[in-house]
Order: sequence, then structure tokens, then C-alpha cells
Amino acid sequence: MGELTRSFDWASTPVGDFDKWPQSLRTIVSIILSSKFPMFLWWGDDLIQFYNDAYRPSLGNSGKHPAALGQKGVDCWPEIWPVVYPLIQKVFAGEAVWSEDQLIPIYRNGRLEDVYWTFSYSPVRNDEGKINGVLVVCNESTEKVLSHAKLAESERNLRNVIYQSPVAMCILRGPSFIIEIANEKVLELWGVTAEVIGKPLFEGVPTATGQGFEELLENVLLTGETFTASGLQFQLLRKGKMEKIYINLLYQAWRESDSSISGIFVIAIDITEEAKIRHKIEVAEERARLAIEASGMGTFDKDFLTGILITSPRFDEIFGYNTPKSGADYFGLIYPEDTHIREDAYKILEKTGKLYYECRIIRTDKSLRWIRVEGVVYKDAEGKPLRLTGIVMDITDSKYLSKQKDDFIGVASHELKTPVTTIKAYIQILEEMLKIKGEAQELSIIKKVDNQVDKLTTLINNMLDATKMVSGRLEYTYSNFIFDDLIKETVTDLQITTRKKITMELSANNCTVRADKEKVEQAITNLLNNANKFSPHAENIVVRTFIKDHQLYCDIQDFGIGISDENKEKIFQQFYRINNNNKNTFPGIGLGLYISSEIIKREGGKMWVTSKEGEGSTFSFSLPCLPADETDEEKSV
Ligand code: ADP
Repeated sequence: MGELTRSFDWASTPVGDFDKWPQSLRTIVSIILSSKFPMFLWWGDDLIQFYNDAYRPSLGNSGKHPAALGQKGVDCWPEIWPVVYPLIQKVFAGEAVWSEDQLIPIYRNGRLEDVYWTFSYSPVRNDEGKINGVLVVCNESTEKVLSHAKLAESERNLRNVIYQSPVAMCILRGPSFIIEIANEKVLELWGVTAEVIGKPLFEGVPTATGQGFEELLENVLLTGETFTASGLQFQLLRKGKMEKIYINLLYQAWRESDSSISGIFVIAIDITEEAKIRHKIEVAEERARLAIEASGMGTFDKDFLTGILITSPRFDEIFGYNTPKSGADYFGLIYPEDTHIREDAYKILEKTGKLYYECRIIRTDKSLRWIRVEGVVYKDAEGKPLRLTGIVMDITDSKYLSKQKDDFIGVASHELKTPVTTIKAYIQILEEMLKIKGEAQELSIIKKVDNQVDKLTTLINNMLDATKMVSGRLEYTYSNFIFDDLIKETVTDLQITTRKKITMELSANNCTVRADKEKVEQAITNLLNNANKFSPHAENIVVRTFIKDHQLYCDIQDFGIGISDENKEKIFQQFYRINNNNKNTFPGIGLGLYISSEIIKREGGKMWVTSKEGEGSTFSFSLPCLPADETDEEKSV
């Protein structure tokens, strides 16, 4: 600026040629130019301007510099002249002016900018001692003012964040923890109103005292270390009664710009509801665990993603181990002949998501045990299997009892068979004798006795068959026969015993089956008898045969009481009878379907039922159909 000032054409200004400047002007200009403080001078009536290097930045990059040098004040500052000129006049009247952080927008950097100034205007006298100029010593405080404004704004923002936060937040100030800011959530959590704001915490919320919070807060104030805790439990008076509350809590030191700690910022999340639910779940889990333990069941959980198998101590114990092992260690104990049972169960599991099987294991101490395994698969939203969870039971004792029962039934029915056969023989002799004698009345009585003996024989035979089936001792005699012919024979025999019309819709087209004819007939008779027995008010029974994919299918349909979904699988088990209100009306011991389905299974087929309660049932079975070139062969096994 010294260079510029020296070379400026002052003659063209009212100040006049440099050589003719009064001493007072020379002195003040030289002070200005050599000062490191921003300085500026208005001189003479036209207020011609001088300024130094330190002042230049305040004029901006593409603004007033260098035109401002030697320029008239009014020409240079049209935008602020209304503010500045009165001050200049004051100075000319002999009064210095001081102003701090005053906003005086100026045109610089190509636009009108908000600029803050701290400045003094002081009079400068000429050689005659008369006030002839104004010295401006100034400092731009825009940055200071803006950073203060930013600070204020960020404090405002913080307050807004706190007030609008969906979780409880507050700021506590000073050693007595004055509640400076507290949002609705915090007031709700404390069970108080906004009146507590401005009061010390433990005065505003007295029930919070004596629960350890004082020490925690004091420690944060002292050390500046943040405190966090999850699931913290405490008591508060809310809505007139003491309540147990669970929170996740954060105490953070509130630091000033000199990093001294002036207070504590608090965030609290009320998790009372979640904690209550979690507690309930834990109690329920504990109860379930105790119940499972008491029942002697072992539990397992297999994670399909990681392959990790978790077993309970009882699970390990059932397999004869005292520590958890790998899956292979457990299932490697399965009795070799029973491994297929587990494999078959897993095939069903893939389709149904349910696991069920019973098999034998040989434990490491060589003892043989029976186990039952049950489980369910849990899937993710896309249906991908995640886990298999289930139980295992040692059923050796019940298997032993069941074997004892089978043995007893086997022996008892065997022992019964001989006297019943003898009775049957005597009845037939008696029948012949009465026929000869022409005793019609006695004959009809003896016929009834004969009928009952036939029923008894069927019952005994069923019991014998069932026990033989369980132990695998039932013998089969094979022959080839045309299935539809067997149906016709069986239906003809049965039609005599019932008033219902048994309709045949046979389209198995001479399909030949290779099986034990008598046993297949026994199965069909059983199904027809049931259809008759369980449809007391119906008029019809329909028997249907057809062929599909080289398999023979036979349906026996009735229009009777039907079977509920939950019973559809169970009725094929031994001695299972549906326990409904009609139980006394339908005699039976629950063996017929077991025997029939076992026969069909043994012959390579399947048996199932479709039914609707109150509308009737259709029992169906399939059997393999013999290829045409093998139908003539007669074989017996
Ligand atoms: P039983 O007839 O000797 O009781 P089954 O093994 O033949 O034994 O049948 C078992 C049970 O299945 C019956 O007690 C009955 O509850 C039910 N059931 C069998 N067939 C039918 C049918 N056609 N309609 C309704 N329920 C049936």
C-alpha cells in the first residue's frame, strides 16, 4: 500500500499534490502505512480515503481495492453511507466512536456480504489543530461472530434433538445435577411434570435417591468416564405407586470448550415392557425345561447352517454317554437292522417337516435299548430349513410291556382257539341232528349260537394274526388271481349279511395280482365290514377298482359317520378305536385296520383313508399289478 500511495496521482484529488501535503497528513498516513493493525483514514471535506495492507483483506478480492485509495468516501461506500456518515459527523464534532461486532454489510467478492466489525472512529487534526479527518482503526470480527452464531445454533439444534427424541434424554448441570433440559420421555419415565426443570435432580425426583444413581453421576462428573448399563433395575413413584422399571442407561460428561466438565448428558431407554416379556419367556422356558426333564426326555437341536448339534445331558445319557458327542456317535449306535427306519423317517421329514421313528440302539456298554425320536423342522421366510428341534425317549420299558401284552394275547388266543374249534364242531353235529329231527325252533337257536361262535373265531384269528405280524411269524401263501373276481366273490358273500346295497364299479380290467389271496380277501372283508358297521343310516356302499401307472387301486366308500383328521393316521395302529359318543354302538377291538394295512403293506401296496366327519369315508389301497406275460405262472411260497 506504501508503493501504491506514493505513486498515486494525488494532484487529481482534492488532497492535492503529495509535495504540498500538510505535515499532519504525512504523519498520520505514514503511521497508517507502517501499522500491522487494519487502519483507514477519511481526510478533508470530501473524506478522501487512505488505508494500509492490513486493511486490504476487508475490501475483498474483487471488490473495492484499489479503487478505494484516493476515492471519496461517499463514492466508495454507497451501501453503508447512511450508517457510517452519521458516525463520521459525530467524530467531526469531536466525539470518538467505538463499536463492537457491528454488522456493516459491504460489497466485496462480487456481492454484498454481511461483515461484522469492531472499530473505533477517532478524530485527526490538521496542522492548524482543527479536526480534518477520521481515523478508523478496525478489526473484522465476522468469523468470531459467525462461530458464536454457529455455536448458538448447534446448541439450539441439540435442544431440539433432545426435545424431539423418542427416547428419554436430559442434561444435568453442575455438582447438584440441576435439570437443565429434560424431554417429555424423561419426565414420563420419572413420573413428574416439567416443573422439575431448573431443580436439582434428586430434589425434583426424590424417589430416585438412594438407588445408586448419585454415586454414578458423581463419578462421571469427576472422571469424565462415560457410564453405560443395560437392563438396569430401579424403583420409581409413578402415577401414585411404586413401580419397578428396567432401563438401558448412558451418562456422558458434558464438556465445555476448555474441556472442563460442566454437566452430564443422560440417555435412558425404558425397556420395562421388553424386560417383563423376556422374564415371562424365561419362566416359560424354565417350566418347559423342568417338565421335559421330569418326563425323562432328552432334547436336541440341530442347526442346518452350521451343522452344530446341541443335546441335553439326558439325551446323552439315553445313548449311554456322559458328555455331548457328534451326530455320528449317536446314530452309529442304531441297531444295524433298524438303520433303515431312521433313513425312512428322514425321507418323510423332507416332505412333512416332521420326524418320528422308533428303533433299537446298542449302547457302548452293549445293552440294547429302544428309543423314540420326534422332531420338527423350523424354516426361514423362504421355506429353507434352519433347524431341527426335538426329543428322544427311552421306550425300552414300554416296548417290553407291549411285548408281554403281545405274548399274552398270542398265548391266550392260541389256547382259546382249540376249545372254540371243538365247540364249532359240536354245534355242526347238533345242527345236523336237529335238522334230521325237524326241530325248527331249536335249529334257529343253534344257528344263532353258530353265528356268535363264527364272530368269536374271527376275533381270535385276528388276535393271533396281529401277534404273529408283530413278531413277523405270519406266513403267506402266494398265488396269482384276478383281482376283480376276488372282489365279486367277497361282495357276493357279504351282500347276504347286510341290507345295504354294495355297488361294484370294477374297471381293473382283468388285472392279475400275485399275493396271498386269502389274506387280501381278509383285508377287503374287513374294510367292507367297517363300511357297513360305521354307516348305520346309509343305504349304500361302493366298491371301485381301477388301474393307474401299473398299480391296482381299490376304493371302498361308505356314507357313514366319517373320521376326523387327527384320527386318520391313528386308526391303522393296533387296538386304536376312536373314542366318540358312539363307542358303545360299534363293537370291535381295533385290530381290523392294523391287520388289513399290514397285509397290504406286506404285499407291496399301501393303504390310506380319505374322510369327512358326518359324510363318510373312503378306504383305499394299492397293489402291484402283474405284467401280462407273468399272469399264467402259478407259484406258491
Ligand atoms: P374295530 O372295527 O374292531 O374297532 P378297526 O381297526 O377295523 O377296529 O377300526 C379301528 C377304528 O377305526 C374303529 O373303531 C373306528 O373308530 C374307525 N373306523 C374304521 N373304519 C371306519 C369307517 N368306515 N368309518 C368310520 N370309522 C371307521
